[in-house]
Amino acid sequence: MTSKAEPINHQTIHPPETITILGGGQLGSMLCEAAKRMGYRTFCVSGHETDPVRRWADHHLIADPGEPATVARVARQSAILTVEAESIEPVALEAAANAQCRVAPSADVQRTVRDRRSEKMFLRDHGLAVGPFATVESAKQMREAAETLFAGGSKKLVAKTARGGYDGKGQRWIHSVTEAADAWEALGSTPLVVEGGIDFVAEASVIVARSADGRMTHFPMFQNEHRRGILFQTRMPGDFSSATAAQAIDLGRRTAEALGVVGLLAVEMFILPDGNVLINELAARPHNSGHVTMRAASRSQFEMHIAAICGLPLPEIHTLQPGVMTNLLGDLWAHGEPDFAKVLADGRGMIHLYGKSPRSGRKMGHMIHTAPTLAEAVQAANAAYEILESR
Ligand code: ATP
Ligand code: MG
Repeated sequence: MTSKAEPINHQTIHPPETITILGGGQLGSMLCEAAKRMGYRTFCVSGHETDPVRRWADHHLIADPGEPATVARVARQSAILTVEAESIEPVALEAAANAQCRVAPSADVQRTVRDRRSEKMFLRDHGLAVGPFATVESAKQMREAAETLFAGGSKKLVAKTARGGYDGKGQRWIHSVTEAADAWEALGSTPLVVEGGIDFVAEASVIVARSADGRMTHFPMFQNEHRRGILFQTRMPGDFSSATAAQAIDLGRRTAEALGVVGLLAVEMFILPDGNVLINELAARPHNSGHVTMRAASRSQFEMHIAAICGLPLPEIHTLQPGVMTNLLGDLWAHGEPDFAKVLADGRGMIHLYGKSPRSGRKMGHMIHTAPTLAEAVQAANAAYEILESR
């Protein structure tokens, strides 16, 4: 992975040094919040003055976070630079590294995870469990991929644009070779990954934190429920056998090690009927499912990202209380501001809002419910969600 031998600096970065975050969404915003609480100065670069980071960053530069010259200039004044999104151009991270700033994740890691083709091939090449897939760059390859995957036993396929997809965007399900040709056109005749549809019994994620000197820690395994391709709810701890959890955590840690990532690595997984685990996709940054750790774990994912990139200790993380994170999408604002007072009335939930203007399908915030048992937390989360939906 590391093409060039770069000198690795293992020195700890202490507060009040400056951490630069590229990207301005809620992940960057919650990273800033954590970093600030831990005593660091934060410098964020993002495209719009209304981006969520505006509320937490010590400095907010409105500029293209993928522009190498801008990033190099900011990097010269920072102890370390990190990203909150896959969309940040790896060349910007190279520019920061060339300006003698520590960068985590590295440009190489960013290059691997931001394109579904390189991500899937990386997993396969390293013997990390992944489902059947093919990379596709032409209509002809699309047909061949569909024929091969159907012949291999897949009942349906899902085509995903290699870059830029999130929340199920840029995806299309395929049930026949004819539909594959349509999907190639419908997705814009652009590079794709085509995957065999996995008959999973559950979805899960494992988040690992890794430092530059190779130390690692991980969060307990989460269980994720998606609705219409978007994460709806995360439960911590997930309801899995100890064998499945051990396999998932081992897979997550081996993936972080193979990538040589510094900071967080979130590994989305499918759990098969036999209890075995396959990797769906990777994110070298905080992950939506990890929001549950803000209330339910002894450390939050945001604190652990900062700890990992700065070389602080990476303690074992445990569950404080079972928790459920529920995403709040813009649709809940269709009739005006949701009735938060009513939602919060039972005292078991907390609401986190990102300061975005509402739009359908847009992640506006999340709720976290904790309780002595997971069943109670789930019940409280669903009762709160029903109130929101009933408006
Ligand atoms: P996000 O940004 O929420 O992580 P995404 O746009 O990157 O989503 P994926 O994680 O690849 O997309 O897919 C979204 C969801 O679609 C998955 O969580 C899963 O529910 C379903 N899905 C994706 N790929 C497959 C597959 N090969 N088989 C079955 N279901 C799938
Ligand atoms: Mg996903």
